[in-house]
Amino acid sequence: AKRRAHGSLQVFEPKMAAEVNRLLQLESDIRSSYQEHRFTFHLQPLIDLHARSLVGAEALIRWNHPMRGVVSPYEFIGFLENSEMINPVGMQLLDDVCQFIRSHKEQGRFPPEMRIAVNISERQIYDADFVGKCLSVLQKYKLPGSCLEFEITEGAALHNLDEVVDKMRKLQNEGITFALDDFGTGYSSLSYLKRLPVNKVKIDKSFIDDITIDPQDAAMVASIIAIARNMNLLIVAEGVETDAQAQWLSQYDDILIQGYLFDKPLQPEVFSQNYLPKPPA
Ligand code: C2E
Ligand code: CA
Ligand code: CA
Ligand code: CA
Repeated sequence: AKRRAHGSLQVFEPKMAAEVNRLLQLESDIRSSYQEHRFTFHLQPLIDLHARSLVGAEALIRWNHPMRGVVSPYEFIGFLENSEMINPVGMQLLDDVCQFIRSHKEQGRFPPEMRIAVNISERQIYDADFVGKCLSVLQKYKLPGSCLEFEITEGAALHNLDEVVDKMRKLQNEGITFALDDFGTGYSSLSYLKRLPVNKVKIDKSFIDDITIDPQDAAMVASIIAIARNMNLLIVAEGVETDAQAQWLSQYDDILIQGYLFDKPLQPEVFSQNYLPKPPA
């Protein structure tokens, strides 16, 4: 049976049909959830390790599914990023984040030097009017680009580097900064670091996990930090979970950290309550 392609295919057919059904269901769930505004975001604080102060937050998408409750991005982001729906969903999220910033600014609760980081996927950048759409959201809420940061991965530049660089520069001219996300996990991180005009690198959690026990990981992180410093980039360590990791990282005086050690991603209201200045009395 193994030699006969058709025969073995038949064995898998029910499984494949189930998988196709699952994906079709996911697709239609995403569409209706978009219309019902069931995609929201949490905010995870970004901390200056040395000063122990808040410098910003990352907006992380959450799906409030009608049947399944809150679904983790790991269960749908890959599918969403490969579907056209990432564009409307991503813009709705950016709009929501800007609305959050606007309302806190009006209450005098948004520090002027703070930025909220938003993850932008490859398909969004290649949208012909990506820059225009971002600028209209800023305009809608009368916000400067300096309250936002966009996080991109090197995958975003795989297809048309010039187009991506051009769009990044246009947005940077409006004050939006860029972070290179999941740094070190791709095939050619250094090459993209050289070619993309980013302001910050986020060292992936997988490098941070074992910095205190694995000398090789520690050496890698030390090298990444040296490169980023030489390029005058800000540096974030992602997924810091333990005191020992923070201790190790604190040998550098210019590291930003994001991780469960400090706080997990929080509902926006909880984030404002715990981290933003109280409304003036
Ligand atoms: P990411 O951009 O690398 O975000 C960091 C992820 O690590 C988040 O997972 C965050 O909750 C988690 N994390 C932070 N600190 C710790 C820690 O100390 N320990 C552990 N174990 N995890 C930690 P989350 O929120 O589940 O998001 C997963 C991924 O989904 C993100 O990885 C990002 O690639 C993607 N994603 C999230 N929101 C968006 C979005 O709005 N748009 C796009 N395109 N992708 C998004
Ligand atoms: Ca990110
Ligand atoms: Ca990451
Ligand atoms: Ca990621």
